[in-house]
Amino acid sequence: MSRLVLLGTGGGRFAAILQARATGGVHLLLDDPDGRPRRFQIDPGPGALVRMLERGIDPLRTDAILVSHCHPDHYTDAEMLIEGMTNGGNDRTGALLASRSVIEGVEGFGPAISKYHAAMPGLARVVSPGDRIDVAGIRVDATPSVHSDPSSVGFRVHAREGVIGYVSDTALAREVTEAHLGSRILILPVTRPLKMPIPHHLTVEDAASMIEAVRPELALLTHFGMRVIKDGPDAAAAWIQERTGVRTMAGKDGMAVEMGKELTMR
Ligand SMILES: [Zn+2]
Ligand SMILES: [Zn+2]
Repeated sequence: MSRLVLLGTGGGRFAAILQARATGGVHLLLDDPDGRPRRFQIDPGPGALVRMLERGIDPLRTDAILVSHCHPDHYTDAEMLIEGMTNGGNDRTGALLASRSVIEGVEGFGPAISKYHAAMPGLARVVSPGDRIDVAGIRVDATPSVHSDPSSVGFRVHAREGVIGYVSDTALAREVTEAHLGSRILILPVTRPLKMPIPHHLTVEDAASMIEAVRPELALLTHFGMRVIKDGPDAAAAWIQERTGVRTMAGKDGMAVEMGKELTMR
């Protein structure tokens, strides 16, 4: 059964600097078509490696690392995880999928991964919105993202039990919403509280608009900025659920969701 773990639910500069919430990104444990377990790590920000080890997740068994864009709350542990995925650089194995900024550098952003590390995995691939890639038997789509890093992407991971949509840092935009239609679980970064927008990020209202359009079975909020953490992410989730009628939960550090016939939180 596929399972996702929120290694961290903090996001934005100050929540990351102060570790007001952990910032390790999302770990996915998926079954490939032959039933073999595959382990993907999305946006390994500061502390991802430590949080993995704390939760008994073996970094040496990583199959793919997905990095959405070139901000440190999304990439700082990527090189360490590449070393894990490749057995300390000894095996040319695993896949790195990342925005152009992360691997090559774009308009003053990045690169965030050294050439030395980008050469380690079996596959290191720049992804752009619309790309569809088979990673260890599991389909991954890159989706659009309207963010300060112009090469930012989001992801859709096609688990056997349904699609996990990972919306990375973005402004609310029609193309972003449309790319995530059909997601069973929609993971959204809610960096800003109600009525406090800043460019390139979702507020609670923006998240509600997206959730209302996509109507996933579960909307999972994460990547909370300092103000959202102070106001209480549970209140934001309740506000969205009340307004949209879609089951909405505020992520907690270490929260796991199991994708059976029902979605079960642990
Ligand atoms: Zn971020
Ligand atoms: Zn960002």
